[in-house]
Amino acid sequence: MNIRTNTPATAEMQATDAAHHMHPFTHGNALNAQGTRIITRARGVWLTDSDGNEMLDAMAGLWCVNIGYGRKELAQAAARQMEELPYYNTFFRTSHPPVIALAKRLAELAPGDLNHVFFAGSGSEANDTNIRLVRSYWAAKGKPMKRIIIGRKNGYHGSTMGAASLGGMRAMHRQGGLPLPDMAHIDQPYWYGEGAGMDPAEFGRQRARALEREIAWLGVDNVAAFIAEPIQGAGGVVIPPETYWPEIQRICDEHEILLIADEVITGFGRTGQWFGSQTYQIRPHIMTIAKGLTSGYVPMGASIVCDEVAGTINAMGEFYHGYTYSGHPVAAAVALENLRILEDEGIVDHAREVAAPRLAARWAELADHPLVGEARTMGMLGALELTPDKARRAPFAAEVGTVGLRCRDICFRSGLVMRNVRDSMIVSPPLVMTEAEVDEMFARAVRALDETHRVLKAEGLMVAG
Ligand SMILES: *Cc1c(COP(=O)(O)O)cnc(C)c1O
Repeated sequence: MNIRTNTPATAEMQATDAAHHMHPFTHGNALNAQGTRIITRARGVWLTDSDGNEMLDAMAGLWCVNIGYGRKELAQAAARQMEELPYYNTFFRTSHPPVIALAKRLAELAPGDLNHVFFAGSGSEANDTNIRLVRSYWAAKGKPMKRIIIGRKNGYHGSTMGAASLGGMRAMHRQGGLPLPDMAHIDQPYWYGEGAGMDPAEFGRQRARALEREIAWLGVDNVAAFIAEPIQGAGGVVIPPETYWPEIQRICDEHEILLIADEVITGFGRTGQWFGSQTYQIRPHIMTIAKGLTSGYVPMGASIVCDEVAGTINAMGEFYHGYTYSGHPVAAAVALENLRILEDEGIVDHAREVAAPRLAARWAELADHPLVGEARTMGMLGALELTPDKARRAPFAAEVGTVGLRCRDICFRSGLVMRNVRDSMIVSPPLVMTEAEVDEMFARAVRALDETHRVLKAEGLMVAG
């Protein structure tokens, strides 16, 4: 069937999708009333849907396709490994070549003494592992009361019961009786949304000191760890003020709290360094990784653990924890090939020296748009805060997210995949993006913002709440 004229085929797939497929983070009936967009192919930074429309993927899938789509080397690495050894576990005093090589490579890349890797199938699973790791660590140290893990409101650490509890997404907690016990959440360093009228540096210090107050309130003898994303992704690309991380680091050091950096988005070049911990000079005890580890070609996550924590866990007896697919050989082979390409082609350097500066420059131009209250970037991450009243940076009168979703739909129709969080628009493009592609993304964003502005005015939605 001709892919460009197969509208009936698209409708048929949409109907089958609606009948049988439950989508993640989706209002099922609302989606099914509208129908899904069916993505069939991708190359570089471009997606193609079942009607032949091309879209520029400014989200790298879901923050993960760091090397871009269509790299045959990864397909070949997977095929070779499937033929050689498609699966074996790492439980029975067994191991295999790709997982050994990958653990070594990750230990080399990760900063400090993060030298030990516990593999998982996803970022959520890795964060569940981290809960078990830090509590087991303190129990082994003779301090079993140190159980509470402090995260942040509007932080995101995944969607399993454990990971969703570490996260501070209120809407997620409302479903299914979360968070689990012994989890606490402090305020986030979201200056645009919550620091109005305050000097950003002062705001960053204040929000970091919320951790110190929380530790004092809970009692340091009860606190195991603090977990945070170097830059919040799903929370809306919340880039902390420069003062935030040094103060967090000081507090964790002084109170001897384990620090978990959730690098699922910020890892593998996203901020212009291999890890966000390097960009912000954070010294975590554990790093969570996933997404860019394999550029999303196959699922894999992991915890990279420091000498002290790994040494203690290794000495305590059996750690009753693991997944069937911990260190899956095919995923490990794909991850290794992905890391090789990132390194050999200098893609992290390209992100830092070419793509990110271009993104920053073009994004700064968007700050002048009548709909934009703030345009911010860090590395290959960006956000646009939409507002009906630039001068006051006011929110819209409509329910939160209404305008963001409208803008997202308009972006899709204009051939640009940009995601909304509340009423902000966010991007996290493939790191391989060229300057010309950044310019094209910018041009499409301007067209979509203009169209959104026109629609909002026509519908009387350019009203402050
Ligand atoms: C996506 C994400 C996760 C969860 O990873 P999954 O692979 O979806 O389970 C955890 N932490 C952060 C920061 C993420 O962005």
